[in-house]
This record gives sequence, C-alpha cells and structure tokens, in this order.
Amino acid sequence: MAVIGFIGLGNMGGGMAANLAKAGHVVRAFDLSADALARARDAGCETLESAAAAAAGAEAVVTMLPAGAHVESVYRDAVFGAAAPGTLLIDCSTIDVATARHVAEAAAGKGLIAVDAPVSGGIAAANAGTLTFMVGGTDAGYARAQPILAAMGRAVIHAGASGAGQAAKICNNMLLGATMVATCEAFLLAGKLGLDAQKFYDIASVSSGQSWSMTSYCPVPGVGPETPADRDYQGGFAVALMLKDLKLAAEAATTVAAQTPMGAQAAALYQAFADAGSAALDFSAIIKLLDQRSNAQA
Ligand code: NAD
Repeated sequence: MAVIGFIGLGNMGGGMAANLAKAGHVVRAFDLSADALARARDAGCETLESAAAAAAGAEAVVTMLPAGAHVESVYRDAVFGAAAPGTLLIDCSTIDVATARHVAEAAAGKGLIAVDAPVSGGIAAANAGTLTFMVGGTDAGYARAQPILAAMGRAVIHAGASGAGQAAKICNNMLLGATMVATCEAFLLAGKLGLDAQKFYDIASVSSGQSWSMTSYCPVPGVGPETPADRDYQGGFAVALMLKDLKLAAEAATTVAAQTPMGAQAAALYQAFADAGSAALDFSAIIKLLDQRSNAQA
C-alpha cells in the first residue's frame, strides 16, 4: 500500500480519495474547503494544512481540480517544491491537452513523473469506485499509476503519450454531447410525427440509430432504464460540465485545424441552455431547449 497525496476533494475527488483509503492506502488529503476536509477525515483520510504538505512524503500525488489553471498553479506553487524526486503525479482533472503536456514536461524537469488520467463516469461512479481512467504518459508512468487508479475505477486504459488521456476524454465527451443532442431531436421529431416515444425507443435501440445516449441515458422520462430524465433532470452530469468539455474540444480542434461542426453546434446549444439558467441540470435536459424552440416556431 502506498502513501498518496490527494488534492481536490470536491464532488469527484471526495469519493475517489475515500476509495483509496478504503483500499488501504495512506491518503494525505488537502482541499481549500473546510467541509471537504471534514468529509475526507470521516472517510479515513489524513488531512493536511496545505497542498505542499499533502505532497511531501507521498509516493504519488493525485489531483482532482476544476480546470487547467488550478492544476498548473497547484503543481507550480505547491507540489513541485514539496514532492520528493521520483514522485508520481496523477492529474485526474479534465483539462486542456496543451496544459497537460506542459505540466508533464515541467514535472520531468523537476525529476518527477506526471501522467494525465481524466475520468469517464460522474459522482456516483466516483463514490462507487467504478470510474474509467484514460491515461496519458510514459509506459513507466502508466505502470506505476495503474494499481492506484484501479482502486478508484473499473477500467484503466493507457491512451498513449502525455496528453493522450485528455485527448481521449474531450473527444469522447464531444461525441457524447453531439449524440445526446441528436438523440433528443430524434425523439422530438418522432413525437411530432405522432410516433410513441416508447415505440421509437424499442425500434431505434435495436436499429442503426442506437447509441449510449439512447439506451443507457435516454433523455425522455419513463423510457429506457432509469436516468436523470426520470428525476426531472436533477443529478447526473451537469450542463455546465458538458459545456466545459465541449469548449475544451473546440479549443483543441482549433489548435490542430480539425473540422468539428457537430461538436461546435452542440457547444452552441449547451451554451444557450446554460445562459438560460439551466447550467445545473443534467445534460440530457437539452431536450427541453429543443422542445421550447420547436414550440416557439410552431
Ligand atoms: P468540484 O468543484 O466539486 O471540486 C473541485 C475541488 O477542488 C473543490 O473542492 C475545490 O475546493 C478544490 N480546489 C480548487 N482549487 C484548489 C486548490 N488550489 N487547492 C486545493 N483544492 C482546490 O469539481 P468536481 O465535480 O469534483 O470536478 C473535478 C474535475 O473532474 C473537473 O476537472 C471536472 O471537469 C472533472 N469531472 C467531473 C465530473 C462530474 O460529474 N462532476 C465527471 C467527470 C470529470
């Protein structure tokens, strides 16, 4: 079992740190929030007074922070000065590919080994230890990160070199955002054409229009397995987080001159929905925006 620093104990990090402690690791945890620290203590983590203190003496340091700027500043201002040479840095936050590569290079310059390891799965998966990790880094970094990540997830996949984990994450979520919008518009059109939603589900879920957005996360209440749609779109994966990931995908696409028109269209729709006050709803609630627009046009 390892001594692991853990920085960022929010919605996701709280459950992840708890699972590391449950697996028998010594977890030295830090967050800016006193409430988050109290929850980590209750879950069996040691709590420290700073990010530097959490990193000092750890064999590995996991970060689960809001965005690239937080990761860069925590690494630069706290971790790089405190971590012993050879310490493994595992950033599980969703951040831009360029920052992921940049911090990994800076870490290597300090004699540290950094991997990017963003996750698929939301708060429930973080709590249950069933996340999917997509890892970017060297073979040696992946080999050291794998058993630590396995204590927090169901699947740990080496995506490639530094930044490849973040590339996989934003491409996956751009695909998810676009397929969710497409699933919503198909159900709306089906309804307006007089087709029963359950009938359409029964047909499309075994036909070529099938997707995860339809069969595992159906945006229509009462159709398919239980999803946030059945809870008035509460919980799940927030519109604000989908929008964040779509923007990261759009930025990345610009830097490499990739054409991503469906991703851009999904981003525009999620931006409009967030601006209309729906940022906290589950992302499948985008069906409401399309419905409102359809009704306004009728
Ligand atoms: P969150 O806002 O709940 O948690 C972030 C935590 O980081 C907060 O507790 C905050 O106090 C802490 N923090 C911020 N700056 C800090 C600093 N300098 N030092 C120490 N702690 C600091 O966010 P979250 O929902 O847990 O998401 C974390 C990351 O996971 C994000 O990058 C997000 O995009 C990604 N993600 C989230 C979900 C989800 O469903 N929530 C799913 C997949 C990926």
